[in-house]
Amino acid sequence: MKCRCGRKAIYHRRQSGQYLCAVCFSKSIQKKFRRTIRKHSLVKRGDNIAVGLSGGKDSTVLLHLLHDLQKRRPFSLEAIIIDEGIAGYRDTTIEVAAKNCSLLDINYTIFSFHQEFGITLDDTQPGVSHCSYCGVFRRYLLNQKSRELHFDKLAVGLNLDDEVQSILMNLLRGDLFRFGRTGPYYKESPQFVPRIKPLREISEKEVMVYAVVNNIEVDHSVCPYASEAFRSDIRDFLDRMESKRPTTKYSLLRSYDRLFPYLQDQLTADVARCERCGEPTVNTLCKACKMLEDITDTGQ
Ligand SMILES: [Zn+2]
Ligand SMILES: [Zn+2]
Repeated sequence: MKCRCGRKAIYHRRQSGQYLCAVCFSKSIQKKFRRTIRKHSLVKRGDNIAVGLSGGKDSTVLLHLLHDLQKRRPFSLEAIIIDEGIAGYRDTTIEVAAKNCSLLDINYTIFSFHQEFGITLDDTQPGVSHCSYCGVFRRYLLNQKSRELHFDKLAVGLNLDDEVQSILMNLLRGDLFRFGRTGPYYKESPQFVPRIKPLREISEKEVMVYAVVNNIEVDHSVCPYASEAFRSDIRDFLDRMESKRPTTKYSLLRSYDRLFPYLQDQLTADVARCERCGEPTVNTLCKACKMLEDITDTGQ
């Protein structure tokens, strides 16, 4: 098969029926990325942006795309790397993350669960999903450190698959508060550094292909803690739907985005300060402090 430009096609985009060569494929991803940014005004001139970088494909591709975008509009870019303390897994991904930063001449800072909370993920007790600890502590640190380091925005590598999985999970769980917080941007509040998700219209598969055709070094190792069972079920369901109707995921995201402004008005809760650490929360204790308390209680 040939691309419309005459070169050999390397990718078939089922949603549009197009066959694309490496060059046209990459251009289409860069265009989609810039369109998402423009549509939701995610990056403004002079912004000071931090990327939450793991070394995996999503955040690494995001780092490269944002770095390319700097040629078109001036803003500053750094990376924050979180070390969760997962033996035999995190060390290699951090190495890859740091390598990419050096290659692009981007400053980075590493923060570890061990240094910030006195625990590593391997310390948490069995029975409770490691992924829920990991997610809470990672979001907590990324927000706190972005704020302390005076970043205007935190860019995270969530892709189309991650987003539609979360939307459906929150809806099926009846968690409308979180359902209302899966949009492309958030209203600013002094304690929350706005999170932006410029990859949310690009599928996981296309992020992967982009990394490969652009020779971007990413870490492919899979976290030893299996992902949440509920998320796996939703992922399988969405993948099955998508294989029958190739626009399923994008349509779900588009429907959500049209609802998002209304959700923002209806579902926002008052943000208070955590009694213990002062970080933002809707309860007395923030989730991270609550989890740390549970870990300490069980450990005694
Ligand atoms: Zn082409
Ligand atoms: Zn707290």
